[in-house]
Formats: sequence, C-alpha cells, structure tokens
Amino acid sequence: MEKNNVNANITKVLEQVSTAAKKYQRDPAEITVMAVSKTQTAEAVMTAAAAGMQHFGENYLQEALEKIHKCQEKNLIWHFIGPIQSNKTRAIAENFAWVHSIDRAKILRRLAEQRPVDAEPLNICLQVNISGESTKSGISPTQLSELVALAQELPRLRLRGLMAIPAPSKEFEDQRAACETLAVLFRQAKADSPQMDTLSMGMSADMEAAIAAGSTMLRIGTAIFGQRQR
Ligand SMILES: *Cc1c(COP(=O)(O)O)cnc(C)c1O
Repeated sequence: MEKNNVNANITKVLEQVSTAAKKYQRDPAEITVMAVSKTQTAEAVMTAAAAGMQHFGENYLQEALEKIHKCQEKNLIWHFIGPIQSNKTRAIAENFAWVHSIDRAKILRRLAEQRPVDAEPLNICLQVNISGESTKSGISPTQLSELVALAQELPRLRLRGLMAIPAPSKEFEDQRAACETLAVLFRQAKADSPQMDTLSMGMSADMEAAIAAGSTMLRIGTAIFGQRQR
C-alpha cells in the first residue's frame, strides 16, 4: 500500500466519522479511531502514525511484538484485539496498553497476575458474543455480569468497556441492531461499574451503524490500510 493512499484513507475515515457523529448528534471527540494494522508492515504503521493515528490494533502476538519493537520511539498505544491463548497472556500483559478480546475468567486472572507492577494498569474490554453463533468468540450476555464483577476486583486491570464483532451484514439496520445490542449491555454493566467508558465496536464496513449506536472506539483496518497482506 502506497503512503499516499494510507494518508488519503485516514483523512477520508476521519471525515466519515465526523459526518456520522454530526448526523447522530454525537461529539466526534468522544470517538477514537484505532488503526487495525494486522498483516501490515511496521512501515505502514509509521505512515499512519505520521498521519496522526495513535492507537493501533493487532491480532497476532508474534507479528505484533516485532512491530511494537520497531515502532518503539513513536509513543503509540497498542491494543490486542485477537483471540487469546493462555500461554500468550504474559507477553500480552507486558507489551500492550489495552486488551479487547477477553472472554473468560482464566485469561482475566492471568493478565492481572502477569501485568508488570511498575506499568500502568492494563486497560481491558470484555468481548461479548452478541450474535449467538457458537463458533464466534466472546462471552454470552448472560455470563457477562459475573466477568464484569471479576474484572473489577482483580488488581492491575482497569475495566474500560465491552467489545463485539457482530456477524457481518450489508444491511445498515441489521448492523445497527447488532451494535444496539452491545450498547444496551454496556449501559447495564456501567450501572455496576460506572468507570466504564469504552464501547469498542465498528469496523470498516459498519462504522456508521456503530457510531449511531454509541461506539466510542472504532477498529478500522481495510478502510485505512487497504486489503490485508495475507
Ligand atoms: C481485523 C479486525 C478489525 C478490522 O476489520 P476491517 O474490516 O478491516 O476494518 C477490527 N476488529 C477486529 C477484532 C479484527 O480482527
């Protein structure tokens, strides 16, 4: 992907975010765009950083660690958003500022235990399976309050919010309904944990629906970097 394209894509995404925010009476300042750089090079990350992106999302640990290392000087904020195997939690706890894809108690406990004591608390979002598909990761909505309570009481973690990856749909109203489902769960969880401030939803194809439903953090890959490299 050419540098110019990444720059132009970022400008376009930010314009779309501000247009959608206006349309749904949201303050654009409360919507963060995370650039999802999985499969993209460290050079692409640096191009996006130079164009003003500060938050980067990665799914694959080994690949992410190389990029984090190469981009050390840039003061970027790294988010782990991929499925988490328990043997990977230490490296995640040591190298990321945020983890969005937590769907079970075991992972939560390990991250709390392994977050270095001298680091800021690890920001976490709990991933909810809002589509009810058995193959998708995410905790079921009925088990959510238990995991919220655990996340609150564990040390070295800061529970920030909820995350979901809705089943793909091309229909705006379906996308919006899925996002509203997560927004309702978020408001319920927030009643017990008022510090929660992050609704992590919205990707390249459902950005507007996510903003309409109250997203505060969009995870945008292809609309910024183009097709993935593999
Ligand atoms: C890949 C990925 C994204 C970005 O998807 P795009 O459709 O490329 O914007 C967002 N969230 C998660 C969890 C992903 O794995």
